[in-house]
Amino acid sequence: MRYLLRHVVLLPFLFAIPFGSTVAQHPVGDLGDELSQFGEARIAVTVSSPAQLQQIADVSSLLGFDGDQTAWVNVNAEELNKLVMLGYSYRHDPVPRPESEGLTATVGHLMQHWDAYPTYEGYDSMMIAFGQSHPGLCKVHEILTLNSGRKILIAQITSQNTPPGGKPKFLYSSTMHGNETAGYILMLRLIDYLLNGYGTDPEVTWILDNMEVWIAPLTNPDGTYFGGNHTVNQAIRRNANNVDLNRNYPDPRVGANPDGHAYQPETMAFKALADTVSFVMGANLHSGAEVANYPWDTWIKQHPDDGWWRYVCRMYADTVQANSPPGFFTDLDNGITNGAAWYVITGGRQDYMNYYAYCREMTLEVSGIFIEPVHRLPLMWDYHHRALINYLKEGWYGLRGTVTDSVTGNPLRARVTVNQHDADSSHVWSDAHTGHYYRLLEQGTYTVLYEASGYHSASFQVTVAAGDTTIRDVQLAPIGQRVPDRVLRHLKIWYDETSQCLRFRNLPAEPVSVKVYTVDGRLLQRDNLASECMPVRGGTGVRMIKLMHPNGDQIVRKVFVY
Ligand SMILES: [Zn+2]
Repeated sequence: MRYLLRHVVLLPFLFAIPFGSTVAQHPVGDLGDELSQFGEARIAVTVSSPAQLQQIADVSSLLGFDGDQTAWVNVNAEELNKLVMLGYSYRHDPVPRPESEGLTATVGHLMQHWDAYPTYEGYDSMMIAFGQSHPGLCKVHEILTLNSGRKILIAQITSQNTPPGGKPKFLYSSTMHGNETAGYILMLRLIDYLLNGYGTDPEVTWILDNMEVWIAPLTNPDGTYFGGNHTVNQAIRRNANNVDLNRNYPDPRVGANPDGHAYQPETMAFKALADTVSFVMGANLHSGAEVANYPWDTWIKQHPDDGWWRYVCRMYADTVQANSPPGFFTDLDNGITNGAAWYVITGGRQDYMNYYAYCREMTLEVSGIFIEPVHRLPLMWDYHHRALINYLKEGWYGLRGTVTDSVTGNPLRARVTVNQHDADSSHVWSDAHTGHYYRLLEQGTYTVLYEASGYHSASFQVTVAAGDTTIRDVQLAPIGQRVPDRVLRHLKIWYDETSQCLRFRNLPAEPVSVKVYTVDGRLLQRDNLASECMPVRGGTGVRMIKLMHPNGDQIVRKVFVY
């Protein structure tokens, strides 16, 4: 289902009952049957203004819009009632469910052909097998067992290589809407591709030697296997509690519980994961459109990294288009869109990850078809896998480094802010356990501020080149403690009789301030050290020379001037 909404400007929420009050009725016929069987149904609703479209999105799960008068909406009985009470007219438009779409096959068949879905048990054993057959590369974590007994599993994939600046953690997850199934298979196949490519494919080897990739193929297993563990044909959008999980997260604009439901077990499990693993970048896969949707979904204003977002999403769309037939992945702005420019949603995973978890996550709509027909599953891989790999590699570029305590050398959790740039929680934090930080940035020159509570702040100018990584390790000096020499520890100072200068060797790149005292503590001169030769004043004798680095590091040396 692809619907264009390119030129529609969303107006402020205008709450009005369009056609007067209407008495809600319990739907009968096919719609009533679908609601009672699945707890949800798809309807096509007639809309006449952007404000109405927004009102529909606020009370139900908007799926798409034709840019004219028709919006497609997923509703449960309660939400249908609200739309009826608001006076909207609608028709039933069920999601097609041909039996062939949901066929399952054995794990052995699947991992050769990738042209069917696994049974639930097949999925579970395939994930476990990924970990068991590649113990040096893959750990499979169970992040939740649902009341149904079904599990949300995530594969953590990386090599034993430990590069000095650490490995940025990247997150792919899919199918939080249980009936958006193409991404489920794409992700299983991507795990297989990475594990089997390590050591033979140079690109895959580089990725796993330099990055850590986390992949959760099925994040709403109760929705996908709603019809039982041996078919995805009866898949539904929502979870077992009839809640749309992509409206269930804390929202940066609206706050807690934006959908009025308790946080679902699936939501809490993912929040806990994002709280404990410092994901740098990611994508959350859906179906129903063919577009890379970037933040924000809840705010109409731009994300501070809007330019970077448009760059990585454009690259994704261009790469898919280069590997697929004309017309594929061209929705909205030729395959990319700002979320709110499409339609505003609250409680979405994307905005949660960006605002609260400091992770650059986009919503990736991989296919216009909800329950992907099995014969198209291999095509989906052909169309998307190059773009998935390229997008993943973007998590390695930009500014990075390690923040440590200048006294102990221990890693620090520090806030890293790009001055005159960051806003709305677009800053990042260094990891408390490793001190590593990663700030994905477009090329340019930036002033970056490093702050940690109990430490002197430090700021530096950095230049980031396109398609490259700038490394900036930072030591923060604790407040109120003497700081031994670290940055300045290799500095050499001596008096040069010929030029009558103090001479310095191994000066750091940053401006170092210098104070020159007599032995009895009288300040003779102070300066910012710009060159390796500093003329001395005040005659001969012993000098105490105190040098201070902007990070708080300082040393005192004695020199005899003669
Ligand atoms: Zn979705």
